[in-house]
Amino acid sequence: MPAPVPRSVLLSRAVRLKCPQCGESTLFHHWVLMYPKCEHCGLTYEREPGYFLGSIYVNYGLTALTTTFAYVAFHMVMGYSNLWVVPPLLVYCIVFPVLFFPYARAYWLAMDLSFDRYRGDDDEL
Ligand SMILES: [Zn+2]
Repeated sequence: MPAPVPRSVLLSRAVRLKCPQCGESTLFHHWVLMYPKCEHCGLTYEREPGYFLGSIYVNYGLTALTTTFAYVAFHMVMGYSNLWVVPPLLVYCIVFPVLFFPYARAYWLAMDLSFDRYRGDDDEL
């Protein structure tokens, strides 16, 4: 079993889209396509079917939070009309989750490794 990795290191590796366990290999070979496992340490990225469903919650939550914050700031604080605030925010709500997709998965993987230290192949159990 590999040594525990501090959460700060896990988060830094998630931001760089690197393997959370070793920090050597990249997680993605395309913007939305992941490698199945780390080429350096062998960490399996998708533990089971549907494993990354939780990353959608991360992505949705951050999108909703930033959209709400921007709406309140532009409409309620600065006084811009809805005609000027809502259309750009609608575009933002479509574009941001696509751009944030790999980071949400990397964050989800890092947090899972943080809370569940054993990440070997489940066949080894
Ligand atoms: Zn690795």
